[in-house]
Amino acid sequence: MNSDQERQAGPDQIGMERMRTMNLLPLLLASTVMLTACGNSSGQTASKNSTMDSNSQYDHNNNPYYSHTDTTKLDVPLSEWKKLLPEDLYYIAFEKGTERAFTGKYWDFEGIGTYACAACGNVLFQADAKFASSCGWPSFFKSERKDAIHYHEDRAFGMVRTETTCGRCGAHLGHVFDDGPEPTGQRYCINSVSLEFIGTK
Ligand SMILES: [Zn+2]
Repeated sequence: MNSDQERQAGPDQIGMERMRTMNLLPLLLASTVMLTACGNSSGQTASKNSTMDSNSQYDHNNNPYYSHTDTTKLDVPLSEWKKLLPEDLYYIAFEKGTERAFTGKYWDFEGIGTYACAACGNVLFQADAKFASSCGWPSFFKSERKDAIHYHEDRAFGMVRTETTCGRCGAHLGHVFDDGPEPTGQRYCINSVSLEFIGTK
């Protein structure tokens, strides 16, 4: 694997080889500045209103599918998601994009609460399953429930990885690796853009 492949592969590749990443960090940072096509998080500035937690990213008022309690599987056409979701969220969720390292809202966020799918509201992780990872993307060692997340073999970039998608709406979230901390040993490496934080009231 050469350095070009590493840069193209994005966060999950980096996570797989964390030790090497540490050495490559300056190079990675330089390259991510150039890879603007991989998702600029500036589009996350959703308008704030009184119904939103200050740590939320998006206004979901116009999204009829958004729910933290309805676990019914959705089958929404991509054309409709494209109308409902902000451009950066659609790109990552339904075009399998990857946000730049260290740019997302939640990679080093430590709020107490819950993380949901930013597209449909499906609860994915609890904040107490989040851990500090040096990879630049939010990392969790456990999902909220068994069917919250679906798993798919991903052979992109000449690697075999496990892609994670939302179990309710199918949005791309990131990948999961088996080099996480105890007690599960798993590391869910998730794009911040794909997540919505729900603080405790
Ligand atoms: Zn979803």
